[in-house]
Amino acid sequence: MAEKSFKKEVEKLRMPAGETFSGEGILAVTKALLQSGVSYVAGYQGAPISHLMDVLSDANDILDELGVHFESSASEATAAATLAASVNYPLRGAVTFKATVGTNVASDALANLASGGVTGGALVIVGEDYGEGSSIMQERSHAFAMKSQMWLLDPRPNLPSIVDAVEKGFELSEVSHTPVMLQLRIRTCHMHGRFETRPNVRPSFTLKDAIENPVRDVGRIVLPPASFTHEREKVEQRWPAAVEFIRRNRFNEFFGEGSRHDVGIIVLGGLYNTLMRALALLGLADVNGKSDVPIYVMNVAYPCIDAEVREFCAGKRAVLMVEEGQPEFIEQSLNTILRQADLQTRVHGKDDLPRAGDYTPNVLIKGLLKFFDRYLPGLVDPAALSEGVRASLEARRAVPVPVVAAAPGVATKPDVASQSAVSTSSVAGAVQPPEVHPRPPSFCTGCPERPIFTAMKLVERELGPHHVSCDIGCHLFSILPPFNIGATTMGYGLGWAGAAAFNTRETDRRTISMMGDGGFWHNGLTSGVGNAVFNRSDNVLIIVDNGYSAATGGQDILSSSADNKIRATRNPIEKAVRGVGVKWVRTITRTYSVSKMRDLLREALTTPEKGPKVIVAQSECMLNRQRRIKPLMKRMIGEGKRVVRERFGVDSDTCTGDHSCIRLSGCPSLSIKDNPDPLRQDPVVTVLNSCVGCGLCGEVSHAAVLCPSFYRAELVSNAGWWERVCKRVADRVIGALQRRVKAREVVYVA
Ligand code: SF4
Ligand code: SF4
Repeated sequence: MAEKSFKKEVEKLRMPAGETFSGEGILAVTKALLQSGVSYVAGYQGAPISHLMDVLSDANDILDELGVHFESSASEATAAATLAASVNYPLRGAVTFKATVGTNVASDALANLASGGVTGGALVIVGEDYGEGSSIMQERSHAFAMKSQMWLLDPRPNLPSIVDAVEKGFELSEVSHTPVMLQLRIRTCHMHGRFETRPNVRPSFTLKDAIENPVRDVGRIVLPPASFTHEREKVEQRWPAAVEFIRRNRFNEFFGEGSRHDVGIIVLGGLYNTLMRALALLGLADVNGKSDVPIYVMNVAYPCIDAEVREFCAGKRAVLMVEEGQPEFIEQSLNTILRQADLQTRVHGKDDLPRAGDYTPNVLIKGLLKFFDRYLPGLVDPAALSEGVRASLEARRAVPVPVVAAAPGVATKPDVASQSAVSTSSVAGAVQPPEVHPRPPSFCTGCPERPIFTAMKLVERELGPHHVSCDIGCHLFSILPPFNIGATTMGYGLGWAGAAAFNTRETDRRTISMMGDGGFWHNGLTSGVGNAVFNRSDNVLIIVDNGYSAATGGQDILSSSADNKIRATRNPIEKAVRGVGVKWVRTITRTYSVSKMRDLLREALTTPEKGPKVIVAQSECMLNRQRRIKPLMKRMIGEGKRVVRERFGVDSDTCTGDHSCIRLSGCPSLSIKDNPDPLRQDPVVTVLNSCVGCGLCGEVSHAAVLCPSFYRAELVSNAGWWERVCKRVADRVIGALQRRVKAREVVYVA
């Protein structure tokens, strides 16, 4: 990556055997891949696995030494298809992306891969963005694993377990000829811990060996009759081989054996830490994980190991299945396994725990109490509970509130939390106690995408509202106040495809679609632009070209302007758009020029010229720009060089207090303060110190003919002698004038 360095993390990847690695979960996965003799890694960035991608991008030297190839893939589908290298060759490969959005995109390749099966170990590392803080639709990768028959690992969130899961995952994949999914939840990725390192392993069979000795096995290709054979292989050979390997290698774990209780808990590995926290708070476990209640930990979420379930449940009156989200795949499996074995153990799960939403300790405490009250009344002494736990149990039912402050035309989230309502996050974001103020996400200070929407608001004043189809990326924040722009979003790069139906000759009114540069290169060039050309659309697309895949952490993409030594950047979007046949294309190189942006958009919406119209709106992502220039400026100041930084300000005396600049700009650095004029009551606008001097507020005031209150100031470090003299003279003159004014005020008062 060009702008941010991961040197420190890369050094950790070099650690020899027997040392203690300490760091973030996702970084441990990166080291584990190298310890496993992986030949290639590919992926598409997205939280929570971006860190893995970023570190490997910077680890070129060490990857070269080990003979490991790393690809920053064009999309998750590309990443998944990369695993084709493991179909015919004993090459270990890993791919990574965010789930379930990435899994959706990759599902075609994953299904083909799982059907034909693999020779070398194939690991699909999915960053499971489910529950609290998630930015995507609430679904689970479990369904994908089951439908295509890929084994799903969900290790306990601690570094040794995660590292083991990576290493053993490859072996499992090889013995069962099946791709393995490693599901890492947000908390697992970002949790810190330690593990004892093993040596990095250079693959014994390399990509070079494969290329020079090509192998072809039509039995691995999804074509009849092989595809029918694949299905039989899946159930008759691959599945039993996997079950045997998982059992023999004790992937799943049993805790609290020898307990006097005849009930137990079955929990997915990824939820183990939360369960232990809940049990500890109830006085049923200690902080070291010693539990009074028997627990069966499924570090393999799929397939269920029937024999282990039977062993655990035999002799127990009931078990509680702790499985987040819906449908309750595992709970249903347990019932089938137990009924088939004629075991009468009762299975509880979604009757005691919420059907939807993530399971925080508070949520689990409530569910556990319901379960224990039924089977072991008196096990938990309410009087012995801590004050905090009692308070959370007594907390009144939270009042559902919309996640998004009600904006005209913006649908709010439905209340899916009716049966949980335990904590502020019991169903991610859907319920909040009234005292918690909603804090919708928004553009960064100085974001170059904000002026695009300011211009759209100005055009809306002139031409009335248009249907706006949104896309995934920072620009999606336009849906929220203060802009309230955008009706739908169908997925990454699908902004223009989302407006495809509105391609009718019955009206001259055009629709506007949004797309980011990341989404454009991911698939938007074909799914949106190519589609619009092919279907002779007359509508408008705005491509936000901020130079990075900004929303996923600022990775470079094809059109990035950064000089990236190992990737081909600087491929203009306009050239690609013209290449697929768009005639009306305009590139604006500074989105902060609100009046130019407004005029261009007006032209695109009203020009008599027929055919698709594309505006490429360029300005560098401010977050990444600040990351790039701040260290440079600091160094230059340290070296005694002259550095100028711009800031904007508002003159309180002329500010009318109508705040239209805030409504049209939405910059978080614009705030309000008490009016210094005792005769006026409306608070005036003020610019906070976080201002990065992008100039948008001044541009907005000018373009919207608001007010002359904004001024620009320059902060000069290491100013020259002439500047210092001028400053001193100016200070004296201003000081003298102010003293005169004050003296007059005193006379008036007197
Ligand atoms: S990350 Fe960049 S593009 Fe995204 S909101 Fe912040 S400044 Fe804007
Ligand atoms: S110049 Fe204005 S719009 Fe830009 S960051 Fe500063 S306050 Fe915000």
